[in-house]
Amino acid sequence: MSRIIDRTAAELAADIREGRLTSVEVTTAFLDRIAAVDGTVKAFLHVDREGALATAAEVDAAVAAGQDLGPLAGVPIAVKDVVVTKGLPTTAASKILEGWIPPYDATITERIKAAKMPILGKTNMDEFAMGSSTEYSAFFKTVNPWDTGRIPGGSGGGSAAAVAAKMAPLAIGTDTGGSIRQPGAVTGTFGAKPTYGSNSRYGLIAFSSSLDTPGPVSRNALDGALLHEVISGYDPRDSTAIDAPVPPVVEAAKTGANGDLSGLKLGVVKEFESSYDKAEPGVVEAYRAGVEQLVKLGAEIVEVSCPSFTYALPTYYLIAPSEASSNLARYDGVRYGLRAGDDGQHSLEEVMSLTREAGFGPEVKRRIILGTYALSAGYVDAFYGKAQLVRTLIKQDFEKAFEQVDAIISPTTPFIAFKFGERTGDPYQMYLADLYTIPTNLYGGPGVSVPVGLSEGMPVGLQVMGPVMGDDITYRVAAALESTQDTLLADTAPEISANLRLTAFDEKGK
Ligand code: GLN
Repeated sequence: MSRIIDRTAAELAADIREGRLTSVEVTTAFLDRIAAVDGTVKAFLHVDREGALATAAEVDAAVAAGQDLGPLAGVPIAVKDVVVTKGLPTTAASKILEGWIPPYDATITERIKAAKMPILGKTNMDEFAMGSSTEYSAFFKTVNPWDTGRIPGGSGGGSAAAVAAKMAPLAIGTDTGGSIRQPGAVTGTFGAKPTYGSNSRYGLIAFSSSLDTPGPVSRNALDGALLHEVISGYDPRDSTAIDAPVPPVVEAAKTGANGDLSGLKLGVVKEFESSYDKAEPGVVEAYRAGVEQLVKLGAEIVEVSCPSFTYALPTYYLIAPSEASSNLARYDGVRYGLRAGDDGQHSLEEVMSLTREAGFGPEVKRRIILGTYALSAGYVDAFYGKAQLVRTLIKQDFEKAFEQVDAIISPTTPFIAFKFGERTGDPYQMYLADLYTIPTNLYGGPGVSVPVGLSEGMPVGLQVMGPVMGDDITYRVAAALESTQDTLLADTAPEISANLRLTAFDEKGK
């Protein structure tokens, strides 16, 4: 048998259920891996060895007693630090929440616990999920396991790096504008943003409430689908939750693995196609090779026109900061975490502003200022109101496209993992990372990123976007693409110390 940490979540679940491995053995293997390599990768803000092993022991006792605890019982998981976990520190990588221990669980945390998955710890991220590189964490930078001089993507860089470096077989991310898919693309892992509202936001630290969506991070589509089904489904505690059956993503991933896409129509967006000269050539090349593979599997490629996608980035950067400025008003030094200037010398208002001055990092402040401006009385119609109108046009573009095609494909992000510091100087350069992922968030549909090849030795992702509640089709296409690859990019993690490149995938990917 391969090393425990090399096995997929689906394999580990079967090993545990059928008695070949105990959950304690599996969980210990990942905890040991964290101890060995996280000093370099720095994916975790907090590791809960004791809690993880306690859950694992419970699973082992239940398995020994002949109970079946469900599809992922005993398989450990890492959770992005924006998801509230009872009794475990939750900071959203912000100084303003440092030391906060939530008294309750998010719905998805409850579901992970009910599925008896040991929680290894909380992963690093850009502060309040604002960023594309994890460089905006208030605590430390996470490195890309493929090249320690490069970013692991963001905002969920910790979750993606944990899976890529085999410190966890699965992780939870959240995606507001691309924070599951872009880190997936640049670390060679699989990431899915489910349909908005099909996964509860209850207990997620809010960034932009009309966009935030939790979802799975994994090494392949099937593992992602298994986790997707564990966390999804209606929740009365989330007012925007969709009360409908969860799309059959596990079945779709299994069907896709057969490698037959005949009869399926995949859209390529005209307005994206004409912009690819501005993306990195190596990324476009790997994407085009992926499209060829999909054609070989029987898919028909159809060009669709989505003219409003051109405005997706500015639309997002009005709506998301507006909602953030309102959501982040609650951090006032009174109710949560940090409190500055409480020395009897300052007024309540001064305490609030000193707390916010000390507790928020530069990107968060930038968003609050931008959002407050866009919502202010004289400008709300010109900025926030206009952005909402354009959002509707983007949604209509998707709806029209899905009358012609089953799913839409694109590169996940225009560039490979960039070097530290390369884009922090110019916010717009950082925002460009989500050029291709943001339309899906504004629409509310599902999108996944699946590894498609390498450029300059670094992973490239292909994005599959589906219609609202059509998550299954995105998994089917992703799993089909994986079936064309001898060695999954994410299945052969580079050894951190040697910084090994993968040659097998390189050859096959071409
Ligand atoms: N990079 C985008 C931003 O900074 C998306 C973040 C996210 O999806 N959480 O807003």
